[in-house]
Amino acid sequence: MTGIKLENVSKSYGNTEVIHEMDLEINAGERVVFLGPSGCGKSTTLRMIAGLESITSGKLYLDGEDVTNLESGKRDIAMVFQNYALYPNMTVKDNITFALKANKVEKKEIERRLHKALEMLDLTQYQDRLPKDLSGGQRQRVALARAIVKRSKYFLLDEPLSNLDVTLRQSARNQLIDIHDEYHQTFIYVTHDQVEAMTLGHRIVLMNKGKIQMVGTPEEVYNQPKNVFTASFIGTPKMNLQPVSWRDNHLLIGSQELELNHDWLQYLNDFSEKDYIIGIRPEHISISKEPSENSIHAVVKMTENLGPNYAVYVETKSTEWVVISSIRDWEKGDTAHIHFDVNKIHLFNKTTEENIGYPNK
Ligand code: ADP
Repeated sequence: MTGIKLENVSKSYGNTEVIHEMDLEINAGERVVFLGPSGCGKSTTLRMIAGLESITSGKLYLDGEDVTNLESGKRDIAMVFQNYALYPNMTVKDNITFALKANKVEKKEIERRLHKALEMLDLTQYQDRLPKDLSGGQRQRVALARAIVKRSKYFLLDEPLSNLDVTLRQSARNQLIDIHDEYHQTFIYVTHDQVEAMTLGHRIVLMNKGKIQMVGTPEEVYNQPKNVFTASFIGTPKMNLQPVSWRDNHLLIGSQELELNHDWLQYLNDFSEKDYIIGIRPEHISISKEPSENSIHAVVKMTENLGPNYAVYVETKSTEWVVISSIRDWEKGDTAHIHFDVNKIHLFNKTTEENIGYPNK
C-alpha cells in the first residue's frame, strides 16, 4: 500500500524553482532515506510532506488522501530535526509527555508510552533530569522519545544525528531501526551521509539540484547506478569514471585498448553509440608490477592509507585511476599495470550520462 505519494511536485521560492516536478511513491511502513549533497532539496521535500512548506504545484497524498493543502497539525506526522529544541525548564519525562498531555491522551496511556520510550532509548535513569544536565547524545534521544510517543503513522527525520559523534551515531541508528521494527511507521530520513543512507534505508532516494537521480535499494544504487551522478556519489573512494570509445570491438582508453568479454561485445554491438563514460570501482581494479593480458600501463602518483588497505592513485597519458591494494608496495613514479575486472564495469552514455545497462541483466 502506498503511504506517501508525490505527484509532479515543484517548489519555488520567489522566481527560483528548487524542486522540479518530483514524482515519488513510498510504501506504507517503508524506511526511505533522502540522500544528496547539501542544498539539493532534501529538507524542502521533507518539509512539504510535513506541511511545514507549501507546495507550489503538484499533489501530495498520504494514505491515498490528497493532503496538498491540509495544514500540518492535521497530518499524522512526527518529526525530529537536527536542531531539536527541548523545553529547558522541564524534566526529561515532562519534555517527552508534554504533547500527549496537551492532546488529552489518557493518563495511563501516557505512562505506558513514556516508560516504553524511556526503556527503548536507555533514558529511564535520566527521566527526572533537566536537559542542561544531559549529554548531547542523551538530549538527542529525548527528542527521539518525544517523537515516538506520538505513535504517528509517518516519522520524518531531518539529519537528526548530525550533532553526535561517530560511536553515538552508530548506536542511535540501531535504536532507530529498533523503533521502526516495533512501530512500522512510514519513515523518511534525510542525510548527506551515504553510510547512514546505506545502513538505514530499505530504499534510497538520491537527489541532486532539486531532482531525483535514482530510487533504489542500497544494493541497487551501489551495484547498478542509473547515471554518472549516482555512480560518483555512492562509494568511497569514488568510482573511477573516464571517457572511452568503442572502436573495432575494443574499448579505447586514451591510446590503450581494453578487451571486453563476449557478453559485453555482443551487447555493445547493438548500440550505434561510440562514445561512453566507463565506470569501475577502485576495488575492481588490480595493480601489478608486471604486465598481464589486457592490463593497462600506468604510473603511480600517490598512495593513501585507508586502514585496512591502500588507495593507489595512478595515471596513464590521458586518464587517472584509483585502485585498492592490500599492500603498501607503491611509490610515486613507479611503473604499474592495472587490470580491470571486466565483469564489474559500467558504461554510461557520454551525452545523457545515463547507464546503458548490462548484458544478461
Ligand atoms: P538540503 O536539505 O538538501 O540541504 P534544502 O532543501 O534545505 O537542501 O534547500 C534546497 C534549496 O532551496 C537550496 O538552494 C536552498 O538555498 C533553497 N531554500 C531553502 N529554503 C529556502 C527559503 N526559505 N527561501 C529561499 N530559498 C530556500
